Amino acid sequence: MKYISTRGACPEQNFEQVLLTGLAPDGGLYVPKELPHFSLAQISSWKDLSYSELALKIITPFIGDEIPAPALRTIIEESYAEFDHPDVAPLTKLGDNEWMLELYHGPTLAFKDFALQVLGRLLDYVLKEKDQRVVILGATSGDTGSAALEGCRHSERVDIFILHPHNRVSDVQRKQMTTVLGDNVFNLAVEGNFDDCQRIVKAAFADQSFLPDDRQLVAVNSINWARILMQIVYYFYAALRLGGPEQAVSFSVPTGNFGDIYAGYLAKRIGLPIKQLVVATNTNDILHRFISANDYSATDLIHTYSPSMDILVSSNFERYLFDLFDRDAEALCAFMNRFGTQSLKVSEPQWQQVRACFDSASVDDETTCKTIAEVYSRLGLLLDPHTAVGVKAAQLCNSDKSVPMITLSTAHPAKFGAAITAAGIETPELPDHLQDLFEREEHYTVVANDLAEVTAFVKSHIHKKQLA
Ligand SMILES: *Cc1c(COP(=O)(O)O)cnc(C)c1O
Repeated sequence: MKYISTRGACPEQNFEQVLLTGLAPDGGLYVPKELPHFSLAQISSWKDLSYSELALKIITPFIGDEIPAPALRTIIEESYAEFDHPDVAPLTKLGDNEWMLELYHGPTLAFKDFALQVLGRLLDYVLKEKDQRVVILGATSGDTGSAALEGCRHSERVDIFILHPHNRVSDVQRKQMTTVLGDNVFNLAVEGNFDDCQRIVKAAFADQSFLPDDRQLVAVNSINWARILMQIVYYFYAALRLGGPEQAVSFSVPTGNFGDIYAGYLAKRIGLPIKQLVVATNTNDILHRFISANDYSATDLIHTYSPSMDILVSSNFERYLFDLFDRDAEALCAFMNRFGTQSLKVSEPQWQQVRACFDSASVDDETTCKTIAEVYSRLGLLLDPHTAVGVKAAQLCNSDKSVPMITLSTAHPAKFGAAITAAGIETPELPDHLQDLFEREEHYTVVANDLAEVTAFVKSHIHKKQLA
């Protein structure tokens, strides 16, 4: 499988090459040059497969023969063996034809484990084959950091540095990152906000001259294609359990960087019958304004009860826009270069195409808490605030009650106690494997909001020697 950049100014790459990088050198994101397509008969024959078996069917065409089938099988099986539910992604009924897909049964209690458990093992395999070491550098507002650390801490050929904004992540989130032990694991608390962390990471990727010649930076946020790929699988898994592919289903997806919902869009493109794809945002609603009113413009960041979706501009949206512009990289570049605070519009036919593909809703904190309280009193079930945004948006947008509507439940409620308390409910307990989280010893280094200080830290802490 070949991958191309959305900005059209760099050569095609194979899967291994896009796995081992971040943005393309021209500033674009990598997407498959051509998508595979599965027939209804093929999809229908997968009904009895386990989660791992289904994953292998779906991801293999995207990887081709770059990773031999037995090795890929081991990587996938080991990754999902870390999940604490036999179904890996169980479905729970919320109402009449309303469902929630629980994506929080991995080690760090958010859906990011689905991709990052696999990413760490893929890196290990590929780097061993190439006899190479790499440096992972990532910025996190919480969930990506812990999932990346859990997924990559055993990787012998990886040094991993995660930046988080000092004193601005929740206690659970910080503890989940800073208690991961390993001599290749480094947490940096930056004296700044999440955007500062991201700016430093971006600048480091753009100029990697601070690294020794035999190293390169690898991204663990959802600009890394491998993350998107692994998230396509659970759309198929859920649909097959609710009568698909003969029965179409709909999904509501709590959205920040447009990674998870873009995976749903791809699931549809490669053959899964999906009726509605609902983009569920909190009050940081650039995507909702674009879909509902053809207004693509950034506003100021608002801190909400669903912090993992507090994002001004969704990086993966560029991957979708590339398709919307018929893969015309020049048109995409022109659009992205004009982007700022002014409101951008696409043409009327393009906007109609967007509306045919996505529905959307924006849900504020008050409604999020009301939704948590309503579901709790009706079913005794606790929703995390991100999931609650998705559930409410599903109700607002549902156009056909005869089609199963599935909200992706992206995190365990114990991770985001503030919203639960605000909804008037007692904070839930952490699952068994994290019961002692608050007694564990933390390791992190506070650094200034300064690129040079961060790169100097990375340079002096990476492992010097190649492994044999
Ligand atoms: C990351 C995250 C999201 C947003 O996912 P995107 O792929 O960035 O859209 C939603 N909910 C939770 C709990 C998350 O951690």
